[in-house]
Amino acid sequence: MIKDLVKNKVNKKSKKINTLKLNRSLKDKFSVDKFIKNNKKLFLFFIGFFLIFSIIVFSCLFLLRKQEQKVGQKRTPLASDLAPSSSPSASTSRLVKEATKEAVVAAPEKNNQKISRKLPIIMYHYVENILNSSDTLRQKLNIPPAIFENELKNLKENGYQTYFVREVPEIINDRMLFSPKGVILSFDDGYEDFYADVFPLLKRYQTKATLYVIYNFIDRPGYLSASQIRELIASGLVEIGSHTLDHIDLRNAPDSVAKREIFESKQRLENKFGIKVKTFAYPFGTYNSETLNLVKESGYTAAVSTIPGTYHSNEKLFYLHRLRPGIFYNHDMVKVLEEYKY
Ligand SMILES: [Zn+2]
Repeated sequence: MIKDLVKNKVNKKSKKINTLKLNRSLKDKFSVDKFIKNNKKLFLFFIGFFLIFSIIVFSCLFLLRKQEQKVGQKRTPLASDLAPSSSPSASTSRLVKEATKEAVVAAPEKNNQKISRKLPIIMYHYVENILNSSDTLRQKLNIPPAIFENELKNLKENGYQTYFVREVPEIINDRMLFSPKGVILSFDDGYEDFYADVFPLLKRYQTKATLYVIYNFIDRPGYLSASQIRELIASGLVEIGSHTLDHIDLRNAPDSVAKREIFESKQRLENKFGIKVKTFAYPFGTYNSETLNLVKESGYTAAVSTIPGTYHSNEKLFYLHRLRPGIFYNHDMVKVLEEYKY
């Protein structure tokens, strides 16, 4: 009996020892170090796989973002130089709403932008009494001088002050005081009607304007002559900006051509008229990221686009937004400017 008991106890003890041994060996077997040691190849394979997978995912996200930015820029021509003005018969609020909708679609990187200053820039082309009624393109881009004069009166009577586009970076960076009732009048292409119809009104109402001239079109029929431009500059009421050498679509031009159009037009205007040319206007309102870089590298401090909007910040000094005068046509210009929310 005693013998049996002792045998049993010994058996139990040896079982316990065996269990402990097994536990220890299991622990050893499944410890991380041991695992890595025993499965080094497998472990390296997983690390490698994870790294390659991460690189692929990040590359896809990067490419997707790039593609989205490109699409945003391709939408810009919606608001190109040649798009028709808004219908004169539509109500002010509808026009503001429509233009606003367009601004949301066309403005790239809008969500990341810090909106700093409201300073509407209006984009005029022709200001004349058109005699040829079949010239529909000119009519679409035209504001008759009498309407233009009413707009200037309206601005003056409501205490509006005019600025040059070259003053926008100064205003945004708080280097220059400006009136909250500020507005900029810009004119594209340098048509001869600027001298005949706009300039006398600028002098009468002491209004500033920025004029974007196409260097190789100076002295051509229908465009301003060099002597007229000299007179405009001498008045102190007109800023001369560049609108390239030949008014080409920069987005589709080879880099070397785009560089010439952007850089040389600035140099030639400066040499010919003895002025500093600080701002640029994209023909047809079209550009891409290379165009933006070339404009910056050429020494301009700001550039105007055709994207509708009235707010400017540091992030968009090289595609400042503008409004078409069509949205004021037969409407209270000041009311439209004040209601404009983007
Ligand atoms: Zn143009």
